[in-house]
Amino acid sequence: YAKSRGKNNFQMFSAEMHHKSSTRLVLETEMRVALEERQFELYYQPQYSLPDQTLVGVEALIRWHHPQRGMLHPSSFIPVAEETGLIVRIGEWALEEACKQAMEWKSLGATLRMSVNLSGRQFRQESLVNTVTKIIEQTGMDSSLLELEITETVLMEDAETTITRLADLKSMGVHLAIDDFGTGYSSMAYLKRFPVSRLKIDRSFIRDIPRDADDVAITTATIQMAHSLKLEVVAEGVETKAQLQFLLEQGSDMVQGYLFSHPVDAQHMTDMVLTGKCKV
Ligand code: C2E
Ligand code: MG
Ligand code: MG
Ligand code: MG
Repeated sequence: YAKSRGKNNFQMFSAEMHHKSSTRLVLETEMRVALEERQFELYYQPQYSLPDQTLVGVEALIRWHHPQRGMLHPSSFIPVAEETGLIVRIGEWALEEACKQAMEWKSLGATLRMSVNLSGRQFRQESLVNTVTKIIEQTGMDSSLLELEITETVLMEDAETTITRLADLKSMGVHLAIDDFGTGYSSMAYLKRFPVSRLKIDRSFIRDIPRDADDVAITTATIQMAHSLKLEVVAEGVETKAQLQFLLEQGSDMVQGYLFSHPVDAQHMTDMVLTGKCKV
């Protein structure tokens, strides 16, 4: 009995594995097509400085207009793109697109900082610095307007190598931010040595503020620590006035979140930029 049951379990297991790997294969093929057929699009979420709540920049967030499944969010394809390595090409496309857009807004009179997310695989690519240099040159991007966001987990993976990589990027004049801060395990010694200018508090800590005393304590401490290290703080996922009030009191430098705006397409963002209609 045990034997046959074991066998059944094995069959179920392998069927599931097969299903998983074939889904992945389909997704990979579809992403290659998507790159060629321009099915990816960047959405932009505004970022505001505090306490004045002035629009100072945007974060570029990728979307995929899948021909059958409609608009897909990054969580449904970025992990597979990362595993297969396709993220490198997708990321190059995103960086180029974001730089072009920033320069278009600049030509309309709106000088906004553009934040672009880099995946772990991209960050560790030997050719990253060359790629970024090339894209900055080709798009005429003002490198001081570009910010690259890398997650805390990726930065801490090989912290010594991270320092040189960040220094190389910084020497091109781009800004660097630590994304999803608080979800990984940062060593304070390294935080001090990373040439980054901003730290983004993960939205899981913002969500239950001001009700949850632990999150209040964590966020307060993070802002204080960041400021002692001369880093600016961005709070992400701000959805309520009470959260904003708390972040104002604690001295967060910037905010982004649904309270102000969901991520929107380039046309909507252009309208917001031109009419200035994006304050709470
Ligand atoms: P992230 O960089 O931490 O981006 C913030 C995510 O929070 C975005 O999800 C954004 O839409 C969402 N968000 C913003 N404000 C709020 C809010 O008030 N409440 C809630 N509940 N959520 C909010 P999105 O667009 O689905 O992106 C998810 C993740 O995918 C990003 O997390 C980023 O890590 C990754 N990603 C997005 N675009 C790219 C890209 O071009 N390249 C790479 N490598 N990763 C990307
Ligand atoms: Mg999402
Ligand atoms: Mg980000
Ligand atoms: Mg984040």
